[in-house]
This record gives sequence, C-alpha cells and structure tokens, in this order.
Amino acid sequence: MYAEVHEVQKLSPTLLRVVLAGGTLDAFEGSPATDAYINAQFLPQESPVVVPFDSADLDGLDPQLRPKPRRFTIRQWDADQRHLAIDFVSHGDDGYAGSWANRAQPGDRLQFSGPGGSYRPSPHVDWHLFAGDESAFGAIGASLEVLPANAHALVFAIVDSPAHEIDFPSNAQVTVRWLYRNGADNPDLVLPNAVASADFPDGTFDVFVHGEAAEVRAIRKHLVAERGVDLNTASISPYWRRKHTDEDWRRVKRSWMAEQLQDV
Ligand SMILES: Cc1cc2nc3c(=O)[nH]c(=O)nc-3n(C[C@H](O)[C@H](O)[C@H](O)COP(=O)(O)OP(=O)(O)OC[C@H]3O[C@@H](n4cnc5c(N)ncnc54)[C@H](O)[C@@H]3O)c2cc1C
Repeated sequence: MYAEVHEVQKLSPTLLRVVLAGGTLDAFEGSPATDAYINAQFLPQESPVVVPFDSADLDGLDPQLRPKPRRFTIRQWDADQRHLAIDFVSHGDDGYAGSWANRAQPGDRLQFSGPGGSYRPSPHVDWHLFAGDESAFGAIGASLEVLPANAHALVFAIVDSPAHEIDFPSNAQVTVRWLYRNGADNPDLVLPNAVASADFPDGTFDVFVHGEAAEVRAIRKHLVAERGVDLNTASISPYWRRKHTDEDWRRVKRSWMAEQLQDV
C-alpha cells in the first residue's frame, strides 16, 4: 500500500503533521484502536528504489540502500476524504523517518502496511491516565478525541519548552500537565518524576504510557510498584530508545523487555 503527501502542517517547532492521500488509500481500512500504527518504509535519499516497490525490486540491493522500516501512529484517518494524518517528531537530520518528514513535499510517496494497534480507552473506568513524549502525541491525541464528554483524562506530556505545546482537541474533561526538558537538570527524569509525584484522581483508571524506552520503563515500575496498577489494564510500550537508531533498538529490545519484567 502507498500514498502521497497531500500537505504538511507544522504543529510545533519539532512536530510535523503529514497528511497522506491518493495512491492505494482507497483500499485502506481504518482501525478502532486509537494507537493504530502503520509499518512504513523510508528510502535512504540515495536509494534507486521507487515507490511502489515489491520485494523483487530489492533483490541484490546494497543493504545501505534498502528501505528502512519504521512504525508511525495514525493520528487521524478520514474515511470520507481518504486522508491519513501522521504526526512526525522532527528530531534533526539523523535517521530516515524524521528527516523524510522534514523534507516532505506534496506528491512525495510513502509505502506502508497495516494498520496494527490494540489500545482504545476503556469505557469502564472513572478516568484515563496518559503519559508520553512527542512520539506518543498521535496516539494520545487520537485517544482523547474519542472520549465522551463525561470522561476524565489526566495527560503528562513532555516537550522541549512551552513553545512546543500542541492542542489536544477533546469533548472530555482533560487536564494536560505540560513538562519541559529545557532547563531541567536531568531531562530524562522529568516525565517519570512528574507522574510519580502527582496526586491521582480517585477511582479506577486505565493507563496509556508510550514513548522513550527509559522514561516508559521508569513510569511502568512506579505505576505497578507504587500505584498498584494491573498490567492487564495498561498499555505501556517503549516506542524508541535515546541514542539508538530504530535498527539498534530492535536489536536490543527483546533483552530490554526481559529485563523490564524483573523490575516489577
Ligand atoms: C507503534 C509505534 C508507533 C510510533 N508512532 C510514532 C509517531 O506517531 N510519531 C513519531 O514521531 N514517532 C513514532 N514512533 C517512534 C518512531 O518509530 C521512532 O522514533 C523511530 O526511531 C524514528 O525513526 P528515524 O528514522 O526518524 O530515526 P532513527 O534512525 O531510528 O534514529 C536516529 C536518531 O534519532 C533518535 N530519535 C529517534 N526518535 C526520536 C524522537 N522521537 N525524539 C528524539 N530523538 C529521536 C534516535 O535515538 C537516534 O539517535 C512510533 C514507534 C512505534 C513502535
């Protein structure tokens, strides 16, 4: 499956919404999951491969020039217009996906498969807890958008500075605690510490914590050990790892997850 860039919107200095349209999107089926994601294939700039491609087109290709798989959340699927929006973290020139979004122009093509995904806010809890960095804002935003007016959500969202905050439209009663890396003694601890020191509302809650691996792991440990969270009611996933490319991260992710099981 593939689609073309329809437009690019700058949501913040480091977050770009890329809206895809056309291509084979007529055949795309949306997902009820609000953390639905696609497996996209990003081509190195010097790659001779052209979208759409199939596996035979990659035969004998130098590994450096092969498409690089990356997962990205569907922020919005407009089934009427057949538009698919993804919010990309623009994290510099490193890597393939973020830099593709930085350069994206109408007509650029992206090949992908999917969607996968499994989380949707539970209708059976008193409130919803969300925590994450910009990579999780697509899923958090999509989740807040499906909450009914009588729902309550508490969101811990980390960005560089107040200039990086974005809107999270919702009918629900949502409190967003914006947290900032800039100026922090240890930026990696800001999000876990904020969750750990917060007064939670009374009542039952479900959990969505996705983002940078070490931050997610620290929050997971706290929620289970200190707040008695049942992991069966929690969607907790390390999307990416600081100082690791996605290839590096996938190489060590299995042992990381096994170690995490020993935390709690
Ligand atoms: C299910 C799932 C859904 C995801 N949804 C989204 C999404 O909607 N939007 C999104 O932006 N990301 C999302 N991610 C994370 C994204 O797949 C990774 O961040 C990926 O590594 C980005 O690829 P890249 O080619 O840009 O950088 P890579 O080549 O993987 O990495 C290059 C360098 O950039 C660093 N880096 C990677 N991501 C970030 C980041 N977010 N902030 C700062 N530095 C970074 C790496 O640590 C590395 O040092 C999702 C991941 C998963 C598993």
